[in-house]
Amino acid sequence: MREALRTRRFYPLTQTNPTMIIHKTGNKKWINRHETFEQPISDLYDLANRDTGDVLADYNDTTTSIQGIIQQAINAGTTIRVLGGEWSWTKIAATNGILLNTKPLNLSFKIGQQNLSPACNRSPEEFYFSQCGTSVKELSDRLRKRNRSLKTSGASNGQTIVGAMSTGTHGSAIDVGSIQDCVVGLHIIVSPVRHVWLERKSNPIVSQSFVSNLHATLIQDDSLFNAALVSFGSFGFIHGVLIETDPLFLYRSYRLKVESGDDLYELMETLDFGNTSIALPFGNERPYHFQTLINQYDSKNQAYLTAMYKRPYNTTYTPPALTGGFAPGDDGPSFIGAITQAIPALVPSIVNALISSAYAPYSNVWGTHGEIFSNTDTHGKVLSSATGVPLNYVNKVRLILLELNKTKGPFAGVIAFRYVKGTQATLGFTKFPITCIVELDGVFSNESYRFYDLFWNELFAQNIPFTFHWGKLLKLDNPKVRTLYTAEKVNEWLAARKKVMVDPLSMRVFTNDLMVEWGLDTLVSEDVVA
Ligand SMILES: Cc1cc2nc3c(=O)[nH]c(=O)nc-3n(C[C@H](O)[C@H](O)[C@H](O)COP(=O)(O)OP(=O)(O)OC[C@H]3O[C@@H](n4cnc5c(N)ncnc54)[C@H](O)[C@@H]3O)c2cc1C
Repeated sequence: MREALRTRRFYPLTQTNPTMIIHKTGNKKWINRHETFEQPISDLYDLANRDTGDVLADYNDTTTSIQGIIQQAINAGTTIRVLGGEWSWTKIAATNGILLNTKPLNLSFKIGQQNLSPACNRSPEEFYFSQCGTSVKELSDRLRKRNRSLKTSGASNGQTIVGAMSTGTHGSAIDVGSIQDCVVGLHIIVSPVRHVWLERKSNPIVSQSFVSNLHATLIQDDSLFNAALVSFGSFGFIHGVLIETDPLFLYRSYRLKVESGDDLYELMETLDFGNTSIALPFGNERPYHFQTLINQYDSKNQAYLTAMYKRPYNTTYTPPALTGGFAPGDDGPSFIGAITQAIPALVPSIVNALISSAYAPYSNVWGTHGEIFSNTDTHGKVLSSATGVPLNYVNKVRLILLELNKTKGPFAGVIAFRYVKGTQATLGFTKFPITCIVELDGVFSNESYRFYDLFWNELFAQNIPFTFHWGKLLKLDNPKVRTLYTAEKVNEWLAARKKVMVDPLSMRVFTNDLMVEWGLDTLVSEDVVA
């Protein structure tokens, strides 16, 4: 538990807090990573742990200091939002109050047998504890040294673990789920006087002594836990998470060009690998990771299909090389920014040229999770929208998109279909038993925004059951949130927030404009939820 790996930036101690390092930058505006919006703020604090050599003491000092920051915000009548990697396109990490940069809060450690509850009959090897600011890439690297691996992640990995979890970041591990589905314990600082260890009652993991070491209050409750998992900064400061990991494994990866046609469409809508006539590398074997990408301008009408098979780790493979700066697991946001909006007549040839250079087919590429999904940066400005739909609507949505592109396009971007097992997170957007995430990655332009809007309007107009990724471009308001994610789930989430946070003043501190717009703040003002 005391073992930790750290990368540190040095910040001078500029204020009176005696414990953690808090650097008040004095910044009055914040621009998200994609430079898609600018937000006036009252300040941005860079946070860092102390480095006394006692990791647990440093971690606990940070807890106490964060409580102090919450108290100061209450006293000043201002708000706080916790930043992850700042990769979201929505203003979900924004507030006009104080922003907290958590990236230097990147302690992590394995847990021991004494940290496990007697009710948990699993090996401590299966779990790993991470402080909130550890990036997904850092986690992958640290796990690898322990012969362990993340089960899944997004395609690119510059997010922090809590930032990624908080919007429901997903890959395309079809039978696994998203990042939040691998989290089994949450340490949340909810007020100046309360911080909790939250886990499912149906899945108790840690011992009372583990919780006592953090000086936290133990809550075992499925409904509260499921609500906090995808809570985009609204349940307080999530200081640490316990994740489930897999033994280190390899992907055997392929990206193929296949005929677009009924056989492919059927597979995209059923994931029935046992009955497909599409020639896949290992016949009927169900891949661990599967996704398709459609280039709507391909004159040969071919689609890209990525299939990755899970294989035991061995040391004889050759890790993948980055080709032109692109990794085997890359998706649209990693490469679309290499182009800019062109006059409509040129869009097809530009998209064609980009896809053939950045998204070339490959075969029999081996790598660990961190080697296949290795990008931590973006190439230029880019826009991204992701909507979750049930499997049996995939082709209906595909046809809507192709028709829109023909009649109201051209869309300067790519269309991808990724798949994950449904989540237990109350407001997780991957809510269908298997959710297909229809992803539109486009150039940064008004034309892309217009195309997204047309697409979303069509989904509403045709009554397609769908959801929006909370961290990507979306079109939501209070009634839409209640329709898409269901009023029942919204009420459950609101009630859980009140029960976990308890203190209305602290709830107000962790409420931002988007939450008000979406009606996810209502219990702050004690409104009765219908
Ligand atoms: C190039 C690129 C590729 C992407 N690929 C994918 C992909 O493959 N799959 C996918 O699903 N998404 C993808 N995304 C979207 C991205 O994963 C999500 O928007 C994710 O939430 C961003 O994480 P972050 O660490 O940057 O967090 P931020 O965007 O900074 O914050 C996200 C939310 O988490 C909250 N938060 C962060 N830390 C804490 C904390 N300690 N306590 C409480 N709340 C906290 C913030 O307040 C905010 O509400 C991609 C984005 C980019 C830029």
